[in-house]
Amino acid sequence: MSDFLSTLIGSPVAKRVGVPQPTRLRRYEPGTPLCDSPVLVAGEGRFAASLSESLRAAGLVTVGSVEEAIDTIGAVVLDLSSATDPEDLDALRVLGAPAVKRLRTNGRVVVIGTDPATLTDVTEVATQRALEGVVRSLGKELRRGATANLVLARGDASAGAWSAVGFFLSGRSAYVDGQVVRVDAGAGVDDDPVKPLDGRVAVVTGAARGIGADIARVLARDGATVVAVDVPSAGDALARVANEVGGTALQLDVTAPDTGTRIVEHAVSRHGGLDIVVHNAGITRDKLFVNMDEARWSSVIDVNLRSILRMNEALLGEGALSEGGRIVCVASIAGIAGNRGQTNYGASKAGVIGLVTALADQVRDRGITVNAVAPGFIETEMTARIPFATREIGRRMNSLQQGGKPKDVAEAIAWLSQPGAAAVTGQVLRVCGQSLLGA
Ligand code: NAD
Repeated sequence: MSDFLSTLIGSPVAKRVGVPQPTRLRRYEPGTPLCDSPVLVAGEGRFAASLSESLRAAGLVTVGSVEEAIDTIGAVVLDLSSATDPEDLDALRVLGAPAVKRLRTNGRVVVIGTDPATLTDVTEVATQRALEGVVRSLGKELRRGATANLVLARGDASAGAWSAVGFFLSGRSAYVDGQVVRVDAGAGVDDDPVKPLDGRVAVVTGAARGIGADIARVLARDGATVVAVDVPSAGDALARVANEVGGTALQLDVTAPDTGTRIVEHAVSRHGGLDIVVHNAGITRDKLFVNMDEARWSSVIDVNLRSILRMNEALLGEGALSEGGRIVCVASIAGIAGNRGQTNYGASKAGVIGLVTALADQVRDRGITVNAVAPGFIETEMTARIPFATREIGRRMNSLQQGGKPKDVAEAIAWLSQPGAAAVTGQVLRVCGQSLLGA
């Protein structure tokens, strides 16, 4: 919290007189367990047994009913993937409600379902679709930093379900709430819990500051060698980030026609290849639609969208991005919900979402995944420039009642970059604390 009102709200006096305080979110630190209280795993679905096993193998305590837990519950994993009739949904309430009552601060609820898009029976589709309504509503009811998210499996997706459940239980997903992630069928990879990106080479654009700098830090912390890209005018800050993470700096404007080729050349010649690309560089040039000039319109479309389309051609051409590679784009909830004064920005970020869904299918056979994260209100220099009242509303209008940190976006990107997240592609993961915008 960077401004006067936030300081005032968080002051000891405000706390004494009962001004509601946002909960300090549990954020991931390497070596910390996914969850340090018992996890209730229940439900009659296809994944409950294998998930319990994986959780126990990861050192967690699992219980099959709330009575088995002595004290509080750290997380509730409810597998409704085999529910076929609305009647079956009551199991959520019967199994989940007593556990949610005992859910600890920063607890987690993860529901597993079957992706309705893979079903044809109308009743089954309706039943599985209903899970989304439950989870999104529950996310709005939970307090004290707890979150609720939904994993939708496509076929035999045990490996993908485990990767997604692991993300949602851990502090990596601190600011991800009320979201749906679809996981494909397929074999999984057991990620190293501390260095899941070991041996990978990652490029991060817009890495000199803000969210991009934290993406570079988190990817490097997880074992990747990072190439940090930003405009020449940000050269000093860029060099500092690159040095800090033990990577290399590459001064480039992402809108230049040869940026993709230069990134590939640099990554191959300096680091021997390229495995992860994070398209994070972005700008805003806000103006109401009726007053929008050509310069504001085209600069935003060019930096935020056209540059990514252009770079991807070079990155995907001639096997530059390795098999099993990862592309993660930074979109925005403005690309989902729209935002006043941001027709240009909303267009660019919605375009990014379109790009991700279309490209994912085209590179699936190379084992490359393409995803986007859509941040909500994140505390950066970009949001510090928003007028005071709008900023304070943006910061608090979400289920977690606070702004996110750049690290929260970075953690979601780091998860999508893991080898173990191979089953997640063509997805848009909102990192917005379940913002009421576009909810
Ligand atoms: P920021 O302005 O703090 O940082 C953006 C970085 O991108 C800067 O270092 C800048 O120099 C770089 N950049 C801009 N144009 C470039 C170009 N042509 N070539 C190379 N680098 C360039 O912004 P941020 O808040 O850290 O945002 C990062 C990304 O997250 C952006 O895509 C933004 O749209 C998105 N986003 C941010 C928020 C938020 O709340 N901060 C919310 C939603 C989405």
